[in-house]
Amino acid sequence: KRNGRNYVHSYTEQDKESDDVKSSMQWLHAVQQAITQDNLILHFQPIYHIPTNQIAYYEALVRLVVDNKVIYPGDFIPALERFEDISLLDQHVISKAIRSLSSYPELQKVAINLSAQAFRNERLVPLVQEKLTQYGVEAHRVIFELTESASLSNLSATQHMVEQLSEMGCAFSIDDFGTGFSTFSYLKNLPAETVKIDGSFVKELTNSSIDRALVKSIREVAFALGKKTVAEFVEDKDTLDLLREIQVEYAQGYYLGKPKPLSELFGQKVAPDVSHSLQEVAMQTQD
Ligand code: C2E
Ligand code: MG
Ligand code: MG
Ligand code: MG
Repeated sequence: KRNGRNYVHSYTEQDKESDDVKSSMQWLHAVQQAITQDNLILHFQPIYHIPTNQIAYYEALVRLVVDNKVIYPGDFIPALERFEDISLLDQHVISKAIRSLSSYPELQKVAINLSAQAFRNERLVPLVQEKLTQYGVEAHRVIFELTESASLSNLSATQHMVEQLSEMGCAFSIDDFGTGFSTFSYLKNLPAETVKIDGSFVKELTNSSIDRALVKSIREVAFALGKKTVAEFVEDKDTLDLLREIQVEYAQGYYLGKPKPLSELFGQKVAPDVSHSLQEVAMQTQD
């Protein structure tokens, strides 16, 4: 009786907690399984250079395929982050993206999203080096997109890894700029070449004078620091025209192109390391 109320309270909290844990564990299991069955795939979305109207590079966006249904990262990434087990996904995405760069020169460069926890993973830097060498890809074709979130509590560790990858020749971009906590400390402390203005400031650009003021000032601060800006969520021509006027350099969004699998973008190709074994199989069957 003494613990009555408290007991009921903590029971429901724990109950909810254990439901969350259960569903997070199911996601973790689904992702682990997808990796072994090659059902964790990448879609690629173009990023346009506004002044020349040309595609400059693509962003790799991960998708989970379960029973022929595509599941978006918003559903499973939070579950993985909860278990601090996102390194599994990061490593898989890095390998796949670098391999795609070698099979598809048309991609030019690829931006890879890294979770905040990536910077606790000591395997990250050697893995990037190993994959670049294995697939014969130049480091400058890889851009890492960092979001300002948990890694802020760990800025010096993040800085250290960013420096190592920069020395290797990889580029960096600050993702979802303007929505995090210490935006300016990121700008100050990380050698990022580009700043991606969060889509929430871009979506309503044509009818919100507040968003226009914010986008203009982000682009000005970035420019003063020698960094280029990318606007995400460009969904119509008027927004693109306005961005050109504000002198934002790059644009990404449904108006310019949705994320798609490589085969849809450039047609089917056999990856170099697969074609070798296919040739062997062909020769064997000729016998
Ligand atoms: P993000 O890096 O900011 O990626 C942009 C998101 O906006 C993508 O959602 C993209 O499909 C969507 N998008 C692009 N253009 C438009 C548009 O015009 N309008 C609207 N409304 N949305 C647009 P997606 O693919 O669902 O990814 C969501 C987030 O998940 C990403 O946000 C990124 O933070 C994370 N993510 C995606 N792939 C990976 C990955 O391989 N590793 C990690 N660690 N995180 C990833
Ligand atoms: Mg991104
Ligand atoms: Mg973004
Ligand atoms: Mg975003």
